[in-house]
Amino acid sequence: MVLGAGLLGVTSAYFLRQLGHDVTVVDRQATPAAETSFANGGQISVSHAEPWANPSAPLKVLKWLAKEDAPLLFRLRADLSQWLWMLSFLRECTPARTHRNIEHIVRLGTYSREMLQQLRRDIGLDYDQRTQGILHFYTSAAELHAAEAPAAQMRALGCDRRLITVDEAVQIEPALAHIKPKLAGATYTLQDESGDANRFARELVEHCQADGVRFLMSHTVTALRAAGGKLAHVEATDSEGRFQFLQADAYVLALGSWSPLYVRELGIRLPIYPAKGYSVTMPVRDPTRAFQVSLTDDEYKIVFSRLGDRLRIAGTAELNGYDRDLNRVRCEALVRRTEELFPGAGDTERAQYWTGLRPATPSNVPIVGRSKIANLYFNTGHGTLGWTHACGSGKSIARIVSGLEAEVEFPFVGV
Ligand SMILES: Cc1cc2nc3c(=O)[nH]c(=O)nc-3n(C[C@H](O)[C@H](O)[C@H](O)COP(=O)(O)OP(=O)(O)OC[C@H]3O[C@@H](n4cnc5c(N)ncnc54)[C@H](O)[C@@H]3O)c2cc1C
Repeated sequence: MVLGAGLLGVTSAYFLRQLGHDVTVVDRQATPAAETSFANGGQISVSHAEPWANPSAPLKVLKWLAKEDAPLLFRLRADLSQWLWMLSFLRECTPARTHRNIEHIVRLGTYSREMLQQLRRDIGLDYDQRTQGILHFYTSAAELHAAEAPAAQMRALGCDRRLITVDEAVQIEPALAHIKPKLAGATYTLQDESGDANRFARELVEHCQADGVRFLMSHTVTALRAAGGKLAHVEATDSEGRFQFLQADAYVLALGSWSPLYVRELGIRLPIYPAKGYSVTMPVRDPTRAFQVSLTDDEYKIVFSRLGDRLRIAGTAELNGYDRDLNRVRCEALVRRTEELFPGAGDTERAQYWTGLRPATPSNVPIVGRSKIANLYFNTGHGTLGWTHACGSGKSIARIVSGLEAEVEFPFVGV
């Protein structure tokens, strides 16, 4: 039984089914991938593995504390879990921890991208995918310089993240011509990809249903009950509020940002805190000005992906509990920056705004593996890279549940 039908739950279900299991997925929403996996930045970004927690973060975060449109904003609350998370975040900012975290993130990312490509070959999904790489551009020479060391580390781990000149950047993505004078340089990784994660998940669900996976949608998990060191059953309510007792041999917890809330009573503390992000999606207005290649704007920490005839722009992070309100300043900042970079490319009047809660761990390394409860497994805490890591984590947890060894070197928990 997989709890959660976001990207991580759906990929877990697919790979569990592949290994011959009888699978049921439970989710409170009527449709899959309707929460954090709904409108993300779309990047399969193996080569952009530097976590928020890095040596330059503490100073930047302090500087941004009172800035309403800051890329990473801690809104301090009387919330013990937020303060504990922040302390752990600070611990992850040392050069040694950052180096180690990048290594884990790149390894899982590389494997995950291979598993996504394999899945495409196996079942041929179509989700506005593009395989033209990711171009990361810099408007500050200092930030470009600071990016050299992590880029070198990623190259050493097998990513082909190359430093390129401004001319090369404009050659790869001609829509950057407008801001060419402002560019300090760029990095480019041809092997990275992009695509509509929500469409991917919905298509994968259709495939899974046809293959016998059961989806209990509009079912809200209310409690996980253990007895004798095992999970005995899951309590849930259905769409009409009726109580349901759900039972299985094994359970995979993939409830995204909500995961820690349901294991607390079992004496398990998952270091996951919601990091709210924003996205805007708008139809292409002028195709000659619209980007095709997936881009990352280093200065504003936002990403751009072309999804068919739509532009998706996403980013920013706000640590403010489970609040999902749309903050006007943040929405406008995304549109303003898009217009500044690609004037007239998108139809701003038809822009659709969205917020989602990234299930963030302090290190950005996800929690995948066994729990201390014999038949309860985790596939959660994927933070900024849940789409990038979905197929690799889904396949790994399916193998671990099946008593097989995972195929990638990664600090799986409890294994
Ligand atoms: C603005 C933004 C941009 C992003 N850009 C990228 C990107 O470019 N590349 C990338 O790799 N990643 C990106 N991410 C991160 C990625 O989207 C997430 O890591 C990923 O979606 C997390 O998936 P999940 O399945 O863990 O969580 P979710 O998608 O939230 O799934 C959890 C599921 O659990 C269900 N649920 C929760 N509680 C209950 C309950 N009590 N009962 C039943 N069901 C419940 C929810 O309905 C939901 O469907 C971005 C995120 C944001 C917010």
